Amino acid sequence: MSRRSSSSSRGRRRGGNRNNRNNRLSVADSVKLNCSHCGKEIRHPHIALTNPENGEPIHFDCALQSIGEKEKLGEREKICYLGQGSFGIIQYSNASNRSFVVKKRIPYERNENTVSWRKTMRYNLDGN
Ligand SMILES: [Zn+2]
Repeated sequence: MSRRSSSSSRGRRRGGNRNNRNNRLSVADSVKLNCSHCGKEIRHPHIALTNPENGEPIHFDCALQSIGEKEKLGEREKICYLGQGSFGIIQYSNASNRSFVVKKRIPYERNENTVSWRKTMRYNLDGN
């Protein structure tokens, strides 16, 4: 078997394809964080959470997902962010999703103020 590698490198370069980067210094640019759950970059560190297992940053969505894997949800139940580092299982009283009760509180972040990556982020926020 002979492999044919077609080297079709385009020799011509078109001009005008400038790398225009935003010069705005945002928090997302100044703090590079990777999610401890999925490994991808966290682009919105201000809404990222701290993984209670290792103190590493985690996507909000990944935290939600990891909780969903642990908790068994019943009918009309849903995991929601309650604020201040806590999630909760809420149960809607009817199908119209108007009223619900918090069935269970799930404290997620334990040591929010001590994690270094968030300190760095806060520092950068204040600095700008
Ligand atoms: Zn993630």
